[in-house]
Amino acid sequence: MTQSNGENPQRSRSGLHQIRAGIQSRSLLAKKRVENIKKDEVKGFFMKNAFVILTIIAVITGIASLDRRASGRMGVRAVIYYTTTTVIAVFIGIVMVLIIHPGKGSKDEFTKQQQIEQVSPADAFLDLIRNMFPPNLVDACTKQFKTHYAKRVIHVTVTVNDTIFLQNGSQQTAQEEMIPVPGSVNGINALGLVVFSLCFGLIIGNMREQGQPLRDFFDCLNEAIMRLVAIIMWYAPVGILFLIAGKIVEMDDISAMGGQLGMYTVTVISGLLIHAIIVLPTLYFIITRKNPFLFIAGLLQALVTALGTSSSSATLPITFKCLEENNKVDKRVTRFVLPVGATINMDGTALYEALAAIFIAQVNDYDLNFGQILTISITATAASIGAAGIPQAGLVTMIIVLTSVGLPTDDISLIIAVDWFLDRLRTTTNVLGDSIGAGIVEHLSRHELRVNDLELGNQTVDQ
Ligand code: ASP
Repeated sequence: MTQSNGENPQRSRSGLHQIRAGIQSRSLLAKKRVENIKKDEVKGFFMKNAFVILTIIAVITGIASLDRRASGRMGVRAVIYYTTTTVIAVFIGIVMVLIIHPGKGSKDEFTKQQQIEQVSPADAFLDLIRNMFPPNLVDACTKQFKTHYAKRVIHVTVTVNDTIFLQNGSQQTAQEEMIPVPGSVNGINALGLVVFSLCFGLIIGNMREQGQPLRDFFDCLNEAIMRLVAIIMWYAPVGILFLIAGKIVEMDDISAMGGQLGMYTVTVISGLLIHAIIVLPTLYFIITRKNPFLFIAGLLQALVTALGTSSSSATLPITFKCLEENNKVDKRVTRFVLPVGATINMDGTALYEALAAIFIAQVNDYDLNFGQILTISITATAASIGAAGIPQAGLVTMIIVLTSVGLPTDDISLIIAVDWFLDRLRTTTNVLGDSIGAGIVEHLSRHELRVNDLELGNQTVDQ
């Protein structure tokens, strides 16, 4: 094994010893994870293709029926909502982990692994910008979500998988040796697709009569897909039941959930519950003066789907359906706000990333000062924006949070055992946050929507 630049040789040697010990005790777990990853590949293939078609068509249809002024204001309101709720979520996560302090106790409870190279926050930020503007649409639909920080997780997984140790950390080596990582292997550039669809929808929306055939075409296609989704949804409860049952059968992983990891799980769940049951409904009530729990009841099917699939993007068709059919939210709002929200507004993920990073610091006995906690809150917000709406994407982007304050990135493996479970809960919170956002933005945009209706000469827009 080559030694990485600037690494303490003493630390490396003892690190190697620890890795070997760790690998033996984890090899069974690692094998199981690789099997799960293979299953995720198949599942991801279907999610990916369904999501690609649906997102593009749904966004184009919604945006095409919106005028430029309304979409601009709606966009500003959505961004303010996303930012506010994400910052609140991060705050809750930090307060919970500092109060409960789940990482206190013996460090030996975990098998530590070696520290590997770090990634600069600038890299991650540039990846985000690059993903917003893919070289071409086909690339965005089919190519993996390749980012610098995703490659760092590949290092970690390889280490856990008892195969290779990468200490030189070169990108090339990481790529050659890579094995699938949950969340990134079937990742698509969702952000790039949404940006493209928004632009295309705006353009055909502003083409007036000339754009009518295209608008009709997308309306019709959208209607057909929604009918298909409605049929598929009859079978959804069965699918979700088996998805969850499958995970419960594999629940021996949960034996790892004693002590610190158990407390960590409880802390994450408490934080998510506070955000989902208290903060978001209160915000909805203050702004709209409507009963938030009736609104949430209309979303039940979407929330259960999020719990079953661990993917905001895969849940998107159901979220549309629940909001539009049960809660009667205007399609021009849902089509505008939801797809963007599913890729960049992840309250649950932000809360979890900040909380998990501080937990890792606690396990390592690192004392974080105020500046570092502030850095964690900023990077957790950015990392949640960068996470795709697919299973365990948050685990991948957490590298950036850890790196920003110099925490060992390979310690992500400490929390992998419970992530499949926590991912479901944070995805449910993400979907709830997006949906409540759609309700709030619709309420705040009711004036523009009415004007838009009048301009279109269409008092009751019901496409
Ligand atoms: N699975 C989450 C989602 O789809 C993302 C994450 O891993 O936090 O919303």
